[in-house]
Amino acid sequence: MALITKAVKGTQDILPADSYKWQHVERVIEDVCRAYGYKEIRTPVFEHTELFQRSVGNTTDVVQKEMYTFNDKGGRSITLRPEGTAGVARAVLEHGLQNGALPLKTYYFTSCYRYEKPQAGRLREFHQFGVELYGASSPATDAEIICLANETLSLMGIKNLHLEINSIGCPQCRAKYHQALREYFSAHTDKLCATCNDRLQRNPMRILDCKSPVCKEIASNAPVILDYICDDCREHFDSVKANLDAVGIEYTVNPTIVRGLDYYTRTVFEFVSGDLGAQSTVCGGGRYDGLIKELSGQDVPGIGFAMGLERLMLILDAQGIEIPNPNICDIYIASMGEKAANKAFEIVTNMRAEGFAAECDLMGRSVKAQMKYADKIGAKFSVVLGDNELETGKAVLKNMADGTTCEVSLDNELLETIYRFQIDSELANFSDSFADENISALAKGLIDN
Ligand code: ATP
Ligand code: MG
Repeated sequence: MALITKAVKGTQDILPADSYKWQHVERVIEDVCRAYGYKEIRTPVFEHTELFQRSVGNTTDVVQKEMYTFNDKGGRSITLRPEGTAGVARAVLEHGLQNGALPLKTYYFTSCYRYEKPQAGRLREFHQFGVELYGASSPATDAEIICLANETLSLMGIKNLHLEINSIGCPQCRAKYHQALREYFSAHTDKLCATCNDRLQRNPMRILDCKSPVCKEIASNAPVILDYICDDCREHFDSVKANLDAVGIEYTVNPTIVRGLDYYTRTVFEFVSGDLGAQSTVCGGGRYDGLIKELSGQDVPGIGFAMGLERLMLILDAQGIEIPNPNICDIYIASMGEKAANKAFEIVTNMRAEGFAAECDLMGRSVKAQMKYADKIGAKFSVVLGDNELETGKAVLKNMADGTTCEVSLDNELLETIYRFQIDSELANFSDSFADENISALAKGLIDN
């Protein structure tokens, strides 16, 4: 029975009282993406398992340990997406978008599924904002992507983030590096975990990404990729750094970043926060020039990043960043008796059509109980309608924040005045001027200004 009222381990609800925070974050992201020319793409929650094995890579933690994979009733092996890049790459190829206008710039919001040990900032269902760009291989592209992530985070008001960048070279320079890693790790096979022993032959760079403390310790003295990258890759990396310098984005070069996907090439980066405890990376990305080739044989460079939205929320909370709540009821129209209730319904319908958040009673409650509700939901203004108000066509408008009131007539002209008054939302001035000024004159002044 308890299972019915308990969410699955590692999942969490976003409740009505908090959803505005997510909407705010999404709106900031959408605005930044629009400014940078990125358009939204939406792909399915599940894909063929093989897609993730091929694109994320068979030697990664994600594929080896974390995927939610099952057979559907038609006997297909299906996997809930553990990340967003693979689905986008699949959609690009399926619809031939790589043959259209390039660069192709996309962004997404997705839920992701990974069977991990749940803890702060680590869930089994989590959400990512990501961008994926295809068709451009210039260093300026890498810088643009990093700028986009940086701007998103700074527009949210987040402080104390560190950008760490690295280059993991191309398949050519990596061959030499793999050799060096094999030599180094071969001396430690007795201490490396079983997965890393397997990786030693198949993909030694993955050992650098292992979460086991012992493997981490051994990896800390391993050869670093930057000592092995070829001239072209070094030039590319230098140019990315020069672009970042030009726009004043600070970074440190961290040669230990290798990222979780197999097909990353050249630039990789992470935004790290001191406010996240052990799960300190809020955003990770990089170039994956080999991905489309791996999936289709075509040579189409790509680059992108993914930002963990739960971790972003944790930082916003930890840094006490206030998010404006747009879901607050502008006006509550209370009523006494059926006629007044009908009028209240009519008024709130009109106000909603004008774009205001307006509510009236749906519970058949007393006026006292209605006002208690208006208070609970934090309504900015209220009006009480009864026989008297219907007869005279006038009612008392109350500013719920400070209790000041004034009389308003219920005809369209005055409603319009309230609307306009609200639009200009000079609420701070409102309570000061409210008591001694005629509301329509005040609102008129606002409109004329
Ligand atoms: P980590 O090293 O923390 O496991 P990762 O390298 O597996 O991260 P990516 O695959 O790069 O993560 O995903 C991008 C971002 O998504 C991460 O930087 C993080 O913010 C977020 N993320 C990844 N896994 C989880 C998770 N299980 N729960 C919540 N957020 C996550
Ligand atoms: Mg992980």
